[in-house]
Amino acid sequence: MNQPLFIEQISIGPMQNLTYVVGSGTTREVALVDPAWDVAGLLRHVEEQDLTPKAVLVTHYHPDHVGGSMMGQRIEGLAELQELRDLPVYVHKAEAYGVARVTGVPESDLIKVETGSRLSLGEIELEFLHTPGHTPGSQCFRIKNQLVSGDTLFIQGCGRVDLPGANPDDMFHSLRRLAELPDDTILLPGHDYGGSSHASLGDVKRENVYLRMTSLESWRQLMGR
Ligand SMILES: [Zn+2]
Repeated sequence: MNQPLFIEQISIGPMQNLTYVVGSGTTREVALVDPAWDVAGLLRHVEEQDLTPKAVLVTHYHPDHVGGSMMGQRIEGLAELQELRDLPVYVHKAEAYGVARVTGVPESDLIKVETGSRLSLGEIELEFLHTPGHTPGSQCFRIKNQLVSGDTLFIQGCGRVDLPGANPDDMFHSLRRLAELPDDTILLPGHDYGGSSHASLGDVKRENVYLRMTSLESWRQLMGR
């Protein structure tokens, strides 16, 4: 039976990355979130289900999410995907430079979005949310009651804020905004770091210490600053 919303979580690569296929179960039009590690395999998997990839969505520019070089390793990603399919790539406007630099995909090939931007996949509407902190242009995607959160928010943690381009205070404000989303939102993070691979935001608000910080002062203490 065709359900209006199609969403699939796929564990891929040696760094516990989670990639997503999201879109319409009716028209079968989908977007690929953070396609990396094995893009040909991902395309095959998607197209074998009679789904048509229409877009690529990027949470942030780290090579384990978009491809590129990391710790001496070459990771497949956007560049390899572009050779196989001509798909529009949606990145936050503050992340376009980083995505282009890391992947080699020209910045002019990237579609720049911001909070409030929307994308339609069949009758399904997806909303972009800018959540800086882990990187300047990190973003989440909200589709109905699902939140694909990249490396901004994990079930039990949040993305690192000690890498170049990260900003701990920005992360605090981003997490506060995510905490305003309804409790029945399903959190779908960018990595599976043990425990469960998804959770209700209500549970995460109760149990994730990073999301429980309500003042910048307590947040900075938690971060050891
Ligand atoms: Zn990352």
